[in-house]
Amino acid sequence: MTKADLKSMDLQELQLFLGDLGEPKFRGKQVFQWIHEKQVASFDEMTNLSKSLREKLQHSATLGGVEMVRRLVSEIDGTRKYLFALENDSVIESVLMKYEYGNTVCISTQAGCRMGCRFCASTLDGVERNLTAGEMLSQVYEIQKDCGERISGVVLMGSGEPLDNYENVVSFIRLINHPEGQNIGQRHITLSTCGLTEKMYRLEEEHFQITLAVSLHAPNDEIRKEIMPVAKANPMDLLLDACFDYTEKTKRRITFEYAMMRGVNDSDDCARELALKLRNMLCHVNLIPVNDVKERDFMKSSGDRVKRFAAILQENGVETTIRRRLGSDIDAACGQLRRSHLKDKRE
Ligand code: SAH
Repeated sequence: MTKADLKSMDLQELQLFLGDLGEPKFRGKQVFQWIHEKQVASFDEMTNLSKSLREKLQHSATLGGVEMVRRLVSEIDGTRKYLFALENDSVIESVLMKYEYGNTVCISTQAGCRMGCRFCASTLDGVERNLTAGEMLSQVYEIQKDCGERISGVVLMGSGEPLDNYENVVSFIRLINHPEGQNIGQRHITLSTCGLTEKMYRLEEEHFQITLAVSLHAPNDEIRKEIMPVAKANPMDLLLDACFDYTEKTKRRITFEYAMMRGVNDSDDCARELALKLRNMLCHVNLIPVNDVKERDFMKSSGDRVKRFAAILQENGVETTIRRRLGSDIDAACGQLRRSHLKDKRE
């Protein structure tokens, strides 16, 4: 019998589950608070439950989580990179970023990824599996425990495509935002997608106040298809229509991520073409010099090129920032820590 995954359940599901075990309704809320507010690791710590109920839970349910395998701490700015093991031996990465306004965790939503972006290390071996909502929550809870400070923001920008694991990601957002749990405000949650257009329309129907980030990385389909296979099924005009619709429905500003790759997408013409397309959108562009990935041969644009690109966008009325690099001494591009771990295990 597979055990019930209590960490991934919402309050109502927990109440039903405990009701089936003959428990009154309020028990659901108690267990919910133990899991999501006090974030205990075992049923034994749930001291206001009877011993017999704790034993019953032990047999029929789990608090399925993730276990820390490795941790790298930046001496420059306190950024921490974590490698976590899942129950089936897969590993995933998460990152703690310390900002003046609070601590934000970058979580993975899948082990691996199947989107195939040419510059990304997470996708080199394809996707192993989707993470459960509980496994996404555990990344935040474990990091909070490890650093001893409150986590007040989450970005879904680790490995995986969040909208390719839609239901679990939406459950995660509801749970991490829950007032009886970690209670992270929706405006402090960012979901990044490579642009799965249909799922974006679905997401806007959830009426979340989260920030949507879209990995654009090119001003047109010709370049985009070269570096992001997902662009074939999701052409740019349809993608930008979906983005526009999202801003209209949610009134939330979209962030476009643009990884600057030397000689690929960083010319003045690219900047002008991009500006023309984004001029009337409630949005902002975040330029990121592409991270070197051993297995990939893209090179980052020079600092001057990035500044010039930003200036053209700004002159044409598109708000633009250049991403600050955190943890440069423990730098490993997305997915590289996980890959080196898997490789070590194979050898
Ligand atoms: N699948 C989602 C979220 C995970 S990737 C997405 O595509 O948005 C998070 C961000 O990191 C994306 O913008 C992605 O394109 C970017 N990224 C991946 N590899 C990178 C690299 N080598 N250098 C810079 N950014 C990279």
